[in-house]
Amino acid sequence: MDRAEKPQRALWAVFFINLAVSIAELVFGLISRSLALVSDGFHNLGDTVSLVVSLVAVNLASKKADSKRTFGYTRAEVIGGSINGLGLLVIAGVIVVQAIKRFFEPAEVIGDIMVIFGALGFVGNAVSTILLRKPSEDDLNVKGAYLHMFLDALHSLAVVIGGILVSMGIGYVDEILSILISALIVKSSVSLLRETFNILLEGMPKGLNMEKVKGCIKGVKGVEDVHDIHVWSISSKRHAISAHIVVKDQSVAETEALLHAIREELRKKCGISHATLQVEPVDVSCDTCSFNQHEEG
Ligand SMILES: [Zn+2]
Ligand SMILES: [Zn+2]
Ligand SMILES: [Zn+2]
Repeated sequence: MDRAEKPQRALWAVFFINLAVSIAELVFGLISRSLALVSDGFHNLGDTVSLVVSLVAVNLASKKADSKRTFGYTRAEVIGGSINGLGLLVIAGVIVVQAIKRFFEPAEVIGDIMVIFGALGFVGNAVSTILLRKPSEDDLNVKGAYLHMFLDALHSLAVVIGGILVSMGIGYVDEILSILISALIVKSSVSLLRETFNILLEGMPKGLNMEKVKGCIKGVKGVEDVHDIHVWSISSKRHAISAHIVVKDQSVAETEALLHAIREELRKKCGISHATLQVEPVDVSCDTCSFNQHEEG
């Protein structure tokens, strides 16, 4: 319990730091007319939303499924991630358009404010990195956040350097920097959306493929064949399968032992925790899949 609570506490601390930094960057980005500061602010705000989505998702996931929501609330995380990713894409687009406009109608950007609040962003992300270092050692998700915060500190450092160059009177630095930061926002949003849309489309979970799943099932002694396989994710960490298992004519007890063995294989080797398996005898042909699955692999 203590092990599980510790990263939570660090993540909440990082959430508040990111929230404060992003608000400061956005407000002073507007005051200084620095698009780079505004885009770094929106990037950090996006991270803040991501953090709260995953933290709330952990709590929602522990809410039990009921008769109305038979899968519980685990997919709330996917909805939150999709909204965040789409929102960030729109914001990045708006910033790029503004930056391009500035090439034709230059604006007076206050470099000193960029330096101060870029530095604040750097300190905030550096502190976040330090806070997450220990808990990142035994949690893959926290490790992702840890590496992310480290890279974000470098983004903010770029804003500081940009501010110095702007103060020196070098042109287009803010515009170019804001386009670069927006490009990075687009990159991370697209990879987030690919993941969430794959889950919403009931796609094959990340890291799995049909061949591997079939191998898991066919590897169990007593399985003659398997077809009509559907594999999907309920949330980023919970995967489910439904499949038809073809067996020789055998007793119910033997079948039950076989199904148990298949479930264990799927859980251990494929990380699939929820399996619904239908048993069919060898000599009966079955043509029930309404999704018209292509045979492959
Ligand atoms: Zn970030
Ligand atoms: Zn069948
Ligand atoms: Zn089917």
